Amino acid sequence: MSPSNTKTVDSVVIGAGPGGYVAAIRLAQLGHSVVCVEREAIGGVCLNWGCIPSKAMIAASSLVESIQHADVMGITAKDVSVDMGKMKDWKDGIVKRLTGGIGELFKRYGVTSLKGDAVFTGPDTVQVKSSDGTTTLKAKQILVATGASTVQLPGMTVDGKRFFSAKEALELTEPPEHFLVIGGGIVGCEIGTYMAKLGSKVTIVELGEGILAGNDPDCIKVVQRNMKKRKIDVLVKSKVKSVTGSGKNAEAVIETPKGEKKIPASAVLVAVGFSPNTKGLGLEKANVKLDERGHVLVDDQCRTSNKNVFAIGDVIGPPYLAHKASKEGMVAAEVMAGKDVTLDVKAMPGAIFTDPEIATVGLDEAAAKAAGHEVKVGSFPFAANGRALAGSHPDGFVKMVGDAQDDTLLGVQIVGYDASNLISEGALAIEMGATVSDVGLTVHPHPTLGETFMEAAHVVEGHAIHIFVPGAAQTAKKANPKSAPNSATAR
Ligand code: NAD
Repeated sequence: MSPSNTKTVDSVVIGAGPGGYVAAIRLAQLGHSVVCVEREAIGGVCLNWGCIPSKAMIAASSLVESIQHADVMGITAKDVSVDMGKMKDWKDGIVKRLTGGIGELFKRYGVTSLKGDAVFTGPDTVQVKSSDGTTTLKAKQILVATGASTVQLPGMTVDGKRFFSAKEALELTEPPEHFLVIGGGIVGCEIGTYMAKLGSKVTIVELGEGILAGNDPDCIKVVQRNMKKRKIDVLVKSKVKSVTGSGKNAEAVIETPKGEKKIPASAVLVAVGFSPNTKGLGLEKANVKLDERGHVLVDDQCRTSNKNVFAIGDVIGPPYLAHKASKEGMVAAEVMAGKDVTLDVKAMPGAIFTDPEIATVGLDEAAAKAAGHEVKVGSFPFAANGRALAGSHPDGFVKMVGDAQDDTLLGVQIVGYDASNLISEGALAIEMGATVSDVGLTVHPHPTLGETFMEAAHVVEGHAIHIFVPGAAQTAKKANPKSAPNSATAR
């Protein structure tokens, strides 16, 4: 585009993260002329500095650890060395491949990609400033998909030298000797764990009562036990008061319930949450209303207080999840293209890439009770699953929560190897209104981790085969013929 020009299109999408790029492609598929504006890089935080690069580093660091502990399998690898710079280059290659793929899809679907900073100048107009000049875009509809950014702490501004957000931490080419993590949420626990695997001495400082707040306490216990094995120190109800000095002399003073503690801290990760990217967007010029925390308010079609402006993803509020943004992007695009659809998601899964992973969907026991359900709960351990043991992954379990009255599957919580991949079965089951018996009756291939899912359903029903369930024999005798046993459908 030439400097300072005006263009009229069907739709403008602001932000090319997993919400915005998905919406832009879907809009193009539905026949819209679309411009997708992005100030940094196509793919947003997820592809460039979040989900994907962190999973690459997590995979690489886990491989290092597996090699170091492979002697139990009779494998001794001598002199394992890590070139974290090369690891980073490999990670960058994956990012490049994925973001390049989205760029290619934009071209093939006819989405115009425009690099620059977009600001609303009216209810149907945005101005985009870039190094090439200023472009004014007039559109029938505009979609805000600007995401969220790391919350900063006073006096600890992220500089990529001492204070890091996830983005800068992923660029490190050496594991810091002493890695101090402020915030025991998802980012802190994921990055803290992989740095420990690469050799850092990690300390996590969490202000609240415990790490990974909001998750099933039994799942958190398994992750904590494994953090302890990796010598990760977790200080809860604690706060970092100051960080002084640099390099080997860097020291953090931490307020803990037992008094002040001083620890070395060569690098500090600030991971205390996200806040929405709505400042400076000129949303007031488009009459778009925000909530008290700065999130854009939307209805169940992702429509804002301006009927021609839509918003999706982190900018409309938590949970801040890429797959939630993508789902909302699909819905918003279809509404913008004239389809009468709404956001109607029963089950929004979540996955935390600690070691082992935690993955959840639906209600946990406490939430199900709070919602008024009479619940029945069962857990099946990975330690009783052949495939988990054959892969040397004995930690964890699948917990299933069902409604005691009508057998509806209400929720699944998994902690264990590959939980993030296993949870989709739970999402599908809940979305389709499956009962616990439906899951138990479904044949799962052997030997797979997926069998833990089926067996957790059997535990809920009181008749698991591969673990001893007290009272199982009596349960079988008294079984209601309508509640089918696991091996056959009741006639
Ligand atoms: P978070 O909200 O998950 O956790 C932040 C933690 O920091 C909380 O436990 C909070 O109590 C603590 N905290 C706040 N102020 C503190 C202080 N001064 N000192 C010590 N602790 C303090 O935030 P996050 O981990 O930064 O992640 C940001 C968002 O991104 C989250 O909503 C998360 O869901 C999302 N995310 C998800 C994934 C995933 O799904 N795998 C991965 C990365 C990020």
